[in-house]
Amino acid sequence: MGRFAPSTTGEAHPGTLLAALLAWLDARAAGGRIVLRLENLDHTRCRPAWAPQMIADLAWLGLDWDGVVEQSARRRDHEDALDRLAAAGRLYPCTCSRRDRTGGRRAPDGGWAYPNTCRARPLPAAGWRASTDALRVRLDDGPIALVDEGGLDLTQDPAAEMGDPIVVRRDGVLAYQLVVVVDDAASGVTRVVRGKDIAPSTATQVALQRLLGLPTPAYRHHLLLVEAHGDKLAKLHGSAPATALRARYTGDELCGLLAHAIGLTPAAVPIRPAVLVPHFDWSRVRRDDLVTRWDGSLSYSA
Ligand code: GLU
Ligand code: ZN
Repeated sequence: MGRFAPSTTGEAHPGTLLAALLAWLDARAAGGRIVLRLENLDHTRCRPAWAPQMIADLAWLGLDWDGVVEQSARRRDHEDALDRLAAAGRLYPCTCSRRDRTGGRRAPDGGWAYPNTCRARPLPAAGWRASTDALRVRLDDGPIALVDEGGLDLTQDPAAEMGDPIVVRRDGVLAYQLVVVVDDAASGVTRVVRGKDIAPSTATQVALQRLLGLPTPAYRHHLLLVEAHGDKLAKLHGSAPATALRARYTGDELCGLLAHAIGLTPAAVPIRPAVLVPHFDWSRVRRDDLVTRWDGSLSYSA
């Protein structure tokens, strides 16, 4: 079982569509199933209207799903996982501010590692739900050996290199690292195909799976579409929203552009995703990030 798990924090962009296409092809080429999970827990960034629009944009591209899960409907399961972590003595409140971390150790994701300062703090007597501070999970110390299917070495000592993850934010929002693990297991996900930007979090997620007694899926982290920002490259984001793409291209045209850009087809001709299935093979998919430009049309430099 595969999954595609976009956050509904805005319109789909070419990077979203490419990630969806790759997760979908990975599943379909193996004759497998795939669910779409709309990650909509962060009410400060997600708008309800983005969820149906995401579904529509993916359908426009030609992708179908064996189920759609709205993460916000899964609260019971999320709380159950937190109850179990609390009962195991793994949850603790963190009173640190972002400023406390700045200038410390650099984490593999480019941010600041959390030095596990508050590990000894007890939960409120009334339980984790009564906390007005963020909650973290005390991970086991020590390395997690992990190489993904593409050969990317993700071995890490997540407790030391990233620091114990936040699982409940100070504003009460349940955080990504925990819910992703709980939801993948609940959907029976055995294959996680996603962008390289998430790769530094994978060891943390495996550590959480082990604490919760959940199976670890196979992982594969694929190339990103990036764009030039001054002299730096950053993940392509708001610049080519689905509304603009759909005004410019048919779904087949955009699918053909993406498939060609990543090396799957010899020419950028319109194509249905389903037509790519029989010949899909990861060895043909480009590995390096791809510099992409949007100026009313989508272009990329090989
Ligand atoms: N919602 C996350 C994102 O869009 C999902 C990451 C994942 O696939 O685990 O970045
Ligand atoms: Zn702290």
